[in-house]
Amino acid sequence: MQVCGVGILPEIIKFLFSKDLGINFGEYKGEFEELRLAANIHRCKKGAAALLLLNIVLLIIDLVVYKPMREETPAYLYLYYSHLVIVVLILLWFTFVKGIYKYNNRVKNAWCHVMYNSTIYWCAFMAINALNISGQITAYTICTLTIAAYIYLTPSEGFFTIITSMIVIIVLLVQYISDTSKLYSHIINIGAVVFFSIIISNLNYSSFAKDFINKKDILRSRKELEEKNEKLREYERLRTDFLANISHELRTPLNVIYSAQQMLDTTLKTYQSSNGKTDKYLKMMKQNSYRLIRLINNLIDITKIDSANFEVKLRNSDIIKIVEDITMSVADYIENKGITLVFDTEIEEKIIACDGDIVERIVLNLLSNAVKFTDRGGYIYVNIYVEADNICIVVKDTGIGIPDKMKKLIFDRFIQVDKSISRRREGSGIGLSLVKSLLEVHGGTISAESVIGQGSTFKITLPDRQLEKKETDMENSNSASGSIEMISIEFSDIYD
Ligand code: ADP
Repeated sequence: MQVCGVGILPEIIKFLFSKDLGINFGEYKGEFEELRLAANIHRCKKGAAALLLLNIVLLIIDLVVYKPMREETPAYLYLYYSHLVIVVLILLWFTFVKGIYKYNNRVKNAWCHVMYNSTIYWCAFMAINALNISGQITAYTICTLTIAAYIYLTPSEGFFTIITSMIVIIVLLVQYISDTSKLYSHIINIGAVVFFSIIISNLNYSSFAKDFINKKDILRSRKELEEKNEKLREYERLRTDFLANISHELRTPLNVIYSAQQMLDTTLKTYQSSNGKTDKYLKMMKQNSYRLIRLINNLIDITKIDSANFEVKLRNSDIIKIVEDITMSVADYIENKGITLVFDTEIEEKIIACDGDIVERIVLNLLSNAVKFTDRGGYIYVNIYVEADNICIVVKDTGIGIPDKMKKLIFDRFIQVDKSISRRREGSGIGLSLVKSLLEVHGGTISAESVIGQGSTFKITLPDRQLEKKETDMENSNSASGSIEMISIEFSDIYD
């Protein structure tokens, strides 16, 4: 175990006498020196201005109050001269400091040293003079401590400046004081001042240096972070472009295959040559074409949403009719799966601003999931009602349900509860995340409630608001909703 005092002593010695206080400037050494000198010149200017003002006042006092004393006591005469000298010195210093910036660091540093060393030695002289008048040497004390706290001196500069000024004053004291006990007591006092001055000077310098290094570190990490962010943004742009390109590339040949298959279908029907087998293969081809089209369409849409290129065509439309029509258009399909579909609405008509095609896709998506995850004999309920400032559409099923820990995750992209290859239901994990994004661009929301083994309830909300447009702009309520094509595409994940 280390005794505390023994451990601290080397630390104090290191802090008092080490060359660089253990501060590592690395590549910033030159920049730090530049900054330190600029700060010192600035501080010297302010200090010199204050000193000049003070000495002008003191000179006036010398001229008005101490005039009679000057003739009797030489110390008052020296006081007068010392005030005069420092005023002249500071004026000279100010005259030349303007041009100092064009010189190198050494000259700048030397120029600052002229200022604070001349102040210290001037104070040393004042201290001895004050000793002759009042027996005090306080001026020196205050000056050394002030400079130590005010100017950023490197540890070696501080050590040298403070120690040499102490030696000067001790030499002067020895000249003037014959009483050895008084001399020792002054030397002890000066020793204490020197000790604290060095500590304060080092603390001042190290806090300035650490501040500088911290700022540099922060700037460097910010720069690195910005560079990384820029790279990530670039990757994201590349990814989005790639996704958009590849999706288009996939869709074009797929459309050709799909059209060819339809032509084949018609041709075979015309020649009445189809039999059970060709029908089966054609159906397989068709459904898988639909699946690919759905996947690619979804990929294109999420890419568009990600890059804020997705277009929503809002129109004042009867939301009840849109939801009812699209639900009814899949009623037979659902009933054929042995599932009972129940549609219920609290209101007959509700006009809101929405994109009918998007609402249809959202409802079809939820219905296709409900069918996919509900076994024969189950129920699917579609319900619409008004709640506060929203229209709520609820799609509820009595299917397999969703585990608690997955309820929030299913709205994230590519998330599926059952990811195993052996799973019974097909899917890409894009549907719900796309539904969520489509609702967001509409100002709507989606949430899920579910109990495993009992079923799931998906609730979507759409804001109850209208576009300020004429009645004629309202979407034609009789327009055909949910084309066979669109339904086939949205339900293509479900196999017989
Ligand atoms: P997928 O194309 O896989 O159906 P979705 O994003 O539509 O992708 O759904 C994500 C996952 O959420 C599904 O794989 C399924 O595990 C779960 N899920 C969605 N709807 C239901 C539902 N009605 N009942 C049970 N699980 C569901």
